[in-house]
Amino acid sequence: MPFSPHVLDNALGAVGNTPLIRLDRIAREEGLQCNLLGKLEYTSAGGSVKDRIAKRMVEEAEKDGKLIPGYSVVIEPTSGNTGIGLALACAVKVKRTPSLPNKGYSVIITMPNKMSLEKEAALRALGAEVVRTPTEAAWDSPESHIGVAKKLQQEIPGGIVLDQYANANNPLAHEYTTGPEIIEAVTATPSTAEKPSSGKVDVVVAGAGTGGTITGLSRAIKQKHNNGCIVVGIDPKGSILAQPEALNTADAGAMYVVEGIGYDFVPDVLSRAHVDRWVKTSDDDAFAAVRKLMRKEGLLVGGSSGSALSGALRWVNEDEDGRRIARTKGANVVVLLPDGIRNYMSKPWFLEMALEAEPSPLAGQIARILKPQ
Ligand code: PMP
Repeated sequence: MPFSPHVLDNALGAVGNTPLIRLDRIAREEGLQCNLLGKLEYTSAGGSVKDRIAKRMVEEAEKDGKLIPGYSVVIEPTSGNTGIGLALACAVKVKRTPSLPNKGYSVIITMPNKMSLEKEAALRALGAEVVRTPTEAAWDSPESHIGVAKKLQQEIPGGIVLDQYANANNPLAHEYTTGPEIIEAVTATPSTAEKPSSGKVDVVVAGAGTGGTITGLSRAIKQKHNNGCIVVGIDPKGSILAQPEALNTADAGAMYVVEGIGYDFVPDVLSRAHVDRWVKTSDDDAFAAVRKLMRKEGLLVGGSSGSALSGALRWVNEDEDGRRIARTKGANVVVLLPDGIRNYMSKPWFLEMALEAEPSPLAGQIARILKPQ
């Protein structure tokens, strides 16, 4: 949890305010002259960048009178993290209204099968109901997580879908919090001989699921800080969010293991006009980058953080602007790291990485010391 000098009212006070961290060891290994900075979202109360939108969507719906304590049932299709944020928000939103028997909001999360058991467990622990849906269902089919949420909303009295795919409060949460936090951290950090800084955000790199993060970040940084900032969107191979369209065709329809990014439709809240460049990433590159973030930087991030880093490194190596930025001392390249490894501890890709790593030089020594005499 980020440090606060004040006592917080509840867990929602510990949403966001995440640290921006130098990734110096990776930058050095890659031969970068620029600063490589990671925005570490797993320190938020629910463990991801999506806490921010959950908090804002709930609070704004309350203001609009769309959420009624003791009556409303919050139903949301999600890859899990928005659900965790909503369940957390709804857990603490219990109203002390004596006339209402059930004073909070019930939560139902619809989530594709591919999403991790850890997310389901966290959701259930927070008191949410979880409905799994077929991963391969097209977004607009009745069986998809979106279709099932719609059906439940129609049938359950008080059912309301806040709808992260279309809710303006999704990108706004990032425009008002994630973006300004990055700008503040970069501008507040002095440039020194040892750690030169341009004093501005030169590049921001983020994956897109709903697209709320990248759209909100772009709006905040370009409109209020540096119009010349280059916004790089990351889209997994098999998804269709990248532009130009030709980028998506090579791996059309491919399944990918990374969770939380990529879709088979373009959500309303994703404004691709706000993204300057797109990079397609593979699972293998993403998981190798997760390992690097753990081993070299001590950061226990999740799979899409690896996608963001591997995409950022591809961009600085392969794009003309990327190569120019990579050679520019003090240029600030910010990579958004959306969640933590807690969400993926039982996933084969992580267990292989953690438990089947190359034998440590210490292993033989330990075996010798502990061998029965
Ligand atoms: N990474 C993870 C782990 C996520 O859960 C999400 C949200 N779907 C994202 C990245 C992408 O964020 P956004 O929906 O704002 O595009």
